[in-house]
Parts: sequence; structure tokens; C-alpha cells
Amino acid sequence: MTKKIKVATPIVEMDGDEMTRIMWQMVKDNLLLPYLDMDVDYYDLGLEKRDETDDQVTIDAANATMEYKVAVKCATITPNAARVKEYNLKKQWPSPNGTIRGILDGTVFRAPILVENIKPSVRNWTKPIHIGRHAYGDVYKNTEMKVTVPGVAELVFTPSDGSEPIRKKIQEFKSPGVLQGIHNLDNSIKSFAISCFTYALDQKIDLWFSTKDTISKTYDAEFKAIFEEEYEVNWKDKFEAAGIEYFFTLIDDAVARVMKSEGGMLWACKNYDGDVMSDMLASAYGSLAMMTSVLVSPHGYFEYEAAHGTVQKHYYKHLAGEKTSTNSMALIFAWTGGLKKRAELDGTPDVASFAQKIEDAAIETVESGILTGDLMRVADPDPKNRQVYTEDFIDHIRKILETRL
Ligand code: NAP
Ligand code: MG
Repeated sequence: MTKKIKVATPIVEMDGDEMTRIMWQMVKDNLLLPYLDMDVDYYDLGLEKRDETDDQVTIDAANATMEYKVAVKCATITPNAARVKEYNLKKQWPSPNGTIRGILDGTVFRAPILVENIKPSVRNWTKPIHIGRHAYGDVYKNTEMKVTVPGVAELVFTPSDGSEPIRKKIQEFKSPGVLQGIHNLDNSIKSFAISCFTYALDQKIDLWFSTKDTISKTYDAEFKAIFEEEYEVNWKDKFEAAGIEYFFTLIDDAVARVMKSEGGMLWACKNYDGDVMSDMLASAYGSLAMMTSVLVSPHGYFEYEAAHGTVQKHYYKHLAGEKTSTNSMALIFAWTGGLKKRAELDGTPDVASFAQKIEDAAIETVESGILTGDLMRVADPDPKNRQVYTEDFIDHIRKILETRL
């Protein structure tokens, strides 16, 4: 056994719920702890602990992320009414991801893990398309009404300083219809822009941003202007030095170009575009369990996780004593993403190269036909394909990893 590799600074670890909590422990026990001398600042975000601490543990975990800058998070239950009953909760606690994002103020970026034996639905997407979704405002924070009688709808802004309200006519209704008011904030758009530029530079990939500013000449144009200004002032030199580019285009042109591209860019999307496009990309690339996710804060904090949830159905099977074939790839890549970022901040290339070895071993496992159930359904048919149980999948990765150390 070779000497363990030292991780210089603690990583913030946020444990989670259900099947992902089980796999999280397996990943640590098999792929990390035997090889790494690593301090973690551990927070149990499992639902019981959140309830017991009145959700303080989530806030503590976010604050710790501000201190150490790098966190890895397991999937967690966002309680609904059924969960309140199931876990006998004091109340319906908010989504931990929402709470953490509220404190760290960031953007979530997703990217698929590509393997040779799972072809994306779009043939030419040979590189991952990373997607960043603005997560504030627009239609997600709207005010709407139904109009049933004739009348005039106006947009009215009343300044707090007592000056004259500004009014603009939206529509004179002669027959029934619907109305909607939406907004966004320059600060939030700017934070989003900074997170996107940070991520693209970090990954050394081009950044594409798209709005509909030809039609929305004030609202969408504001997004475009804020991105452009931020780029010119703070990122242009860094992007040029890294050999990457910032590219703005209309949303419809972006969609058309993405379909024809080979991938390999960050696609920054407004809130609604990102909602729709991220689901399209996840499905086109094969499996949600092959999708990684990272929260990048404009203040330089990074929180890595899987894009999927706690895989509740598999957990109930597990509780009933049945074997499951659940995919741990995205959880593994959450850890390796966090380790690589930690290595970069600490200047410890041996940690980064170990993380890379885990990723290589995981990809090789899948490419050699050792598959979990979700991958069996989407992988190219091959006589060597074999469905394995959750723990055997991780075992295989470990065996390959051992040969590389
Ligand atoms: P989910 O956990 O993502 O699972 C949905 C389905 O996708 C599963 O039933 C399974 O399909 C498949 N799947 C997802 N991940 C998989 C994996 N690693 N390996 C194999 N199959 C996988 O979504 P959910 O069941 O709707 O949500 C469960 C809980 O997760 C909810 O309480 C929700 O609040 C929480 N959640 C948390 C996060 C987060 O913390 N970031 C995100 C989303 C949801 P089959 O059953 O067909 O095998
Ligand atoms: Mg969606």
C-alpha cells in the first residue's frame, strides 16, 4: 500500500438522504478514504438532522463553504407534505439547495459525463454541452391575472421618492385574455454573468449566451448589455489568454447552432430557457445519473453534487432487503470535481491527478460493459454488457483504480 495522498485544506462535506446517502458512504469507503489523507468539515444534511436542528445544519454548511470555498454535497430530500408525514417533521423545511444558493449566491452548472458506449441522441455532440441557468426572476417570480371584461392594462412603476409614476400601456382589452408581469434585477444578472465567466474560464471552454433582445429591446437587452460590460471590463484579457471566446447570439440562433455543434461549450441561459434546455440536454445525453452539477458563486465558492435526486424508489427496495443497481457516477464525479478544485486552490497536483484516476477508472468501468440498470437501457448493445449491483459497480471502479496507483 502506497502512502496516502494529503489533501491540504478541509473539504466541506454535506451528507444527504436515501439511496444517495448509502452510495455516498460506499464511494468514500472504497474510492477515497483508503487513498487520501483528507480532513472534511462534515455536515449531515439528512432530513432527520435538518429537522432536529431546525435546518441550522444547512446554514452552517453554507457558511463553512464560504470559509473553505469548496464543498461536495450528496442529494437531499426537499420535503413535501408526504415527507412531513413520513419523517414526522416539525415543518416542511425548504430545499437545502435553495437555502445554500441563497447564502452563496450562485449559478448551477450541469455537464454530462460522456462514455463511448452511450451515444447522445444528437450524433454530433461528441463533447459535453455545459449548461448554466439563471435562477432568479422572470416567469418564475411573476404576477398574473385573467382579464374577463374590456379594459386597459398598463405597466405602472411608482418611484419610492414620491416622483411621478411611470405608465406604459400594455394592451387595450376588448375581449377576455391574460396578463403577466415579470421582473429581474441588475445585481442578479451581473452575479449570473460573473458565475458564467468564472465557470467557462475554469473549464477552459467557450461561453455562449443568448437572449431575445431583438424582440425584447429593454428587458432582454439589459441581460445582453450586462454580460457585455462584464466581459469587456473583467474577462476579455483572461479569455484571450486562455484561448476561449465569449459569444452572444439570439436564443433561436443559439438553439440552431447548438444542434449542429460538436458541443464543448458553456451555454448560459435565461431562467426559462435553462429550465427547458437542461432537461433536453439531460435526456439527449442518456441518463440523469451521468449528469454532474456544480454551484459556482460569484464570490469564488464551489459546491459540487450530482444532478439527480435521492433515488427514492431504489432506496425503498434497498430497505426491503432487495439488491439495487443504482448508478454512483455523478456522486463520484461530485467528489472528484471537489478534489480537483481543492487541488487547484491548494496547489497540490497529486490530489488532482488522483481525482483524474478515479474518473478514468469510472469511465473505463462503464466502457468495459459493467453497467447499472439505467445505463443498460441506454448503452450500445454488446454481448459483454453486464448489469451489476450498486456495490459491485463501485468495486469494479476500485479494481481498475488499484492498477493505476
Ligand atoms: P431522482 O432521485 O432523481 O430519481 C428519479 C428516477 O431517475 C429514479 O427513480 C430512477 O429511475 C432514475 N435515477 C435517478 N438517479 C439515478 C441513479 N443514480 N441511478 C439509477 N437511476 C437513477 O428524483 P425523484 O425520485 O423525483 O426524487 C427523490 C428525492 O430527491 C425527492 O425527495 C427530491 O426532493 C429529491 N431531489 C433532490 C435533489 C438534490 O438534492 N439536488 C435533486 C432532485 C430531487 P428508475 O426508478 O426508473 O430506475
Ligand atoms: Mg426543467
